[in-house]
Amino acid sequence: MYKVLALAGGVGGAKLVLGLSKILKPEELSIVVNTADDDVFHGLHVSPDVDTVMYALAGLTNETTGWGIKGDTFRTLSALKKLGDEDWFQLGDLDLATHIKRTSLLHSGKSLSQATDHLAKKLGISHRVIPMSDDPVKTKAITESEELDFQDYFVRKKCEPAITGIRFDGINNAKPSEKFIEAISEAETIIICPSNPIVSIPPILELSGITELISNFHGKTIAVSPIIGKKALKGPAGKMMMELNEDVSSLGVAKRYVGICDLFVIDNTDIKEAPDIEELGINVHITSTIMNSQKDKITLAKNLLSLISS
Ligand code: GDP
Repeated sequence: MYKVLALAGGVGGAKLVLGLSKILKPEELSIVVNTADDDVFHGLHVSPDVDTVMYALAGLTNETTGWGIKGDTFRTLSALKKLGDEDWFQLGDLDLATHIKRTSLLHSGKSLSQATDHLAKKLGISHRVIPMSDDPVKTKAITESEELDFQDYFVRKKCEPAITGIRFDGINNAKPSEKFIEAISEAETIIICPSNPIVSIPPILELSGITELISNFHGKTIAVSPIIGKKALKGPAGKMMMELNEDVSSLGVAKRYVGICDLFVIDNTDIKEAPDIEELGINVHITSTIMNSQKDKITLAKNLLSLISS
């Protein structure tokens, strides 16, 4: 019997979590997901990372985009545009149902955790999907000239402006969700998924008390590098690291996880970085970490689980 807590952002996290969910029973896996990318569009609460994880677990992922629901259409968004709304944040017709239901649950007084639990169950997901917090935290991308809401930077401006910093607005007043704390106390292993090390994992770790809980965690904390061959497989992680003067490498990511991670998993491509990572006081495991197919996701998940007992 395993008790694994996975910390995840969007695309990279969702891939690994899917692999883990194919091996671990529902009571063996909890997934805590970043909510600092959440925003409101057309009056609806959208949780991009939570949805990417839920759609992956429900077998609904649009493999081409990595976000949204496969086969979705965008008729409602076109109609909204005609009515004067902006349409730069793509929301499919089926996807909108998730946001409508989440928003109505929140309006009826449910917490984000309760709303997520409801949505996950209705999508047929049996593993626990837990938002990192029920309180609002909002990632801001700071550039030379302005501070942008994360989705404005990420989607509307396609990550083009160079960033000089990142700020998690509200992080000092946000509490980790109760289920997050419960999941840490029950866990025997924590897996930090290969998610963006600047904007997806840090908000989770920076919630009050979390870094301390993970630093003092009695079990093993294993992180998988989201950087392979000195670049991100997808998304702006590499560009953001470079602009923040960090090494765009597995070593650069490992530096961020000093003190919280016992074992860092890097791709075969990055074998040469292993000694420098070990210098940081973190053990290294080298394997194939690229998850293109379902088989890759399960293989990496199995590989990680075998490290728990070794
Ligand atoms: P985002 O919300 O779209 O930024 O998604 P994430 O928070 O999951 O972060 C994206 C990171 O996931 C990037 O650094 C990618 O390199 C990484 N990633 C995506 N797919 C894979 C994969 O198959 N293997 C590994 N190791 N990393 C991946």
